[in-house]
Amino acid sequence: AKNAGRNRLSYFTQALQESAQHRLRLINDLRTALPSRQLALHFQPIIELTSRRIIKAEALLRWQHPEQGTISPAEFIPLAEETGLIIEIGDWVFREAAYWASRWTQNTDSDLQISVNMSPLQFQSEALVIDDWLTHLCALGVAESHLSIEITEGLLLNAHPEVTDKLLGFRDAGIQVAIDDFGTGYSALSYLKRFDIDYLKIDQSFIRNLETEPNDLALSEAIVIMAHKLGLKVIAEGVETEGQCRLLMDIGCDYGQGYLFSKPLPAADFERLLQ
Ligand code: C2E
Ligand code: CA
Ligand code: CA
Ligand code: CA
Repeated sequence: AKNAGRNRLSYFTQALQESAQHRLRLINDLRTALPSRQLALHFQPIIELTSRRIIKAEALLRWQHPEQGTISPAEFIPLAEETGLIIEIGDWVFREAAYWASRWTQNTDSDLQISVNMSPLQFQSEALVIDDWLTHLCALGVAESHLSIEITEGLLLNAHPEVTDKLLGFRDAGIQVAIDDFGTGYSALSYLKRFDIDYLKIDQSFIRNLETEPNDLALSEAIVIMAHKLGLKVIAEGVETEGQCRLLMDIGCDYGQGYLFSKPLPAADFERLLQ
């Protein structure tokens, strides 16, 4: 019995060691992912529910690892945040999104907006200089209104001056702001008054059981009513069925995003969808 226990223990420590090694290897590989051009943006359409027109797209990071294939951002964004690499990667994401926004709106009357996810760490970093991004937009000849950012509630709850300054900086530049995963955080709500937010994105955990859970429908409707009274638009995340779409239209939700309309697509495929 003693032996078996020891074996189990060594098996356990070995598994721990392997996962720690896997992590270290990923972190190491992440350092070279950007210069090696292994990162790419995919674009998921955001649809106006009443017209079914594409009015926005969310830019979502993909890591094409040479040996391990595609690695999910849910796995590597936390590593990028731990190591500080998120600053460099986030800078690339914004500039890359701006490039595609300029390409898809130039010489057209399109009002397409590309939405970029921002880590709270980017707001705390001195390396993020909004004026540099605005210069980049200017050089590309793309209006600020063609870009927006997505942040989570946590950032606004105990917002330090440098966070508030940056948020105002985006606002003043005409870059709209969305609250991501709305309903899953603290929902202190008072920040909606303090900061001039433009969109709430209802988290997909509310949408998933919309057709069977009356409480989820009630909460979603309450969010839409509140948002509209405050002058905000609402985007439902993770819309997968026509039934969910119909209910969202019934409660007056403005926009939807999800597999029902399209998965996130490589830039070339999204471009084809636009035409
Ligand atoms: P998120 O911002 O909440 O993005 C929405 C996620 O839901 C995406 O996962 C998207 O592919 C997925 N999704 C979209 N429609 C559906 C649907 O109908 N059903 C289901 N089940 N899922 C759907 P993804 O692309 O794996 O991204 C995961 C998270 O990684 C994102 O969650 C975001 O927090 C983070 N992320 C992605 N790109 C970036 C980035 O450039 N910067 C930062 N800081 N974070 C990013
Ligand atoms: Ca998002
Ligand atoms: Ca989300
Ligand atoms: Ca507003």
